[in-house]
Amino acid sequence: MKILVINAGSSSLKYQLIDMETEQVMAKGLCERIGIDGHLKHSPLVGGKPVFDEDLPMPTHSEAIAAVIDKLTSPEYGVVASMSEIDAVGHRVVHGGEKFASSVRIDEAVMAAIEECVPFAPLHNPANITGINACRAVMGDVPMVAVFDTAFHQTMPGKAYMYAVPYEYYQNDGIRRYGFHGTSHRYVSSRCAELLGKPIEGLKLISCHMGNGSSICAIDGGKCVDTSMGFTPLVGLPMGTRCGDLDTGVVQFIMNKYGFSIDEVLNILNKKSGVLGVSGVSSDFRDLDNAAAQGNDRARLALDMFAYWVAKVTGSYVAAMNGVDAIIFTAGVGENSASMRASIAAYFGYLGVSIDEAANAKRGQDIMISTPDSKVKVFVIPTNEELVIARDTRDIIG
Ligand code: AMP
Repeated sequence: MKILVINAGSSSLKYQLIDMETEQVMAKGLCERIGIDGHLKHSPLVGGKPVFDEDLPMPTHSEAIAAVIDKLTSPEYGVVASMSEIDAVGHRVVHGGEKFASSVRIDEAVMAAIEECVPFAPLHNPANITGINACRAVMGDVPMVAVFDTAFHQTMPGKAYMYAVPYEYYQNDGIRRYGFHGTSHRYVSSRCAELLGKPIEGLKLISCHMGNGSSICAIDGGKCVDTSMGFTPLVGLPMGTRCGDLDTGVVQFIMNKYGFSIDEVLNILNKKSGVLGVSGVSSDFRDLDNAAAQGNDRARLALDMFAYWVAKVTGSYVAAMNGVDAIIFTAGVGENSASMRASIAAYFGYLGVSIDEAANAKRGQDIMISTPDSKVKVFVIPTNEELVIARDTRDIIG
């Protein structure tokens, strides 16, 4: 079975074609500047075919999908002979609200429910819907599955997902913590249980997804019991450009003092804050490492704040679960920054964590970076959201 995984943004579309017999990625690529001019980078990973990396007109997502199918099946760049070899399509969908606690096969009712979740994710869900509609237009009745970023977090108990505001806002409007990065937290936690050689049902795990966006998830017995992102992906840890947790009084203060509209303030909190805002240098942790090494105090402060917040939230989840067996680092920063992992792990002395420096220096593999006698184990597990989407799609399509 071959499954096409699609992650559609407002002007971009990422894809992977995965052979489910081997779980090997056959080809992957990215359409960019959809609706502007259009560019496709298509990389075949089997058969020794060349990379295609050129501008292509893409007025809408339909032309983008058509270009992807064309390249996947072309004699020069293709990895399959025709579209009929693609058995199903798995779509990443950001927000499933309380309607979806797991992945589902897409039909008209599911499309309507995803549409109903648009107010919760006004930038992302419309792009995901556009991507699905474009695929349906180009690929006809190839079965399709939606995999939601929020679904894994639907097992949180009320005490974790409720906000202490008048109950009507939850009841009438669905105001609550939803959480994001669920597909990533699900993948790394189940992989961690495999690496530990223990059933996940008996494990308490904390997964730290640290990339441009960052969130932490407490996973007890394989189920999410708390997570740091909330109603939106703005809160929790300070991120590349997002502020993380913030006293709402700050919003009012800035609006009054500078005469900003709420949209202007939200733009600052989403795009100009986080480690970029604090450092004034960059949202990229590599740039911050370099600047801090050259004595830039604000870059050092931004890095220290990030490590502190990861340690603080992780500690609160140890308390929430009354213990932890393993802590997992994943995503761009978690997978690549040995120095950030070491800074965070330095807070975990009370857990009996000790880090194996040689293991921590390695990259690009699933690895335990704690010493064998460390009471709580620490892992680096490269995330693979596409593989989860493909597996869910296979399981649902059968
Ligand atoms: P993601 O959102 O998971 O793609 O992560 C992207 C982020 O990972 C980038 O913005 C960088 O800050 C970070 N990153 C990638 N490689 C490194 C590295 N070698 N050291 C530190 N940070 C890194």
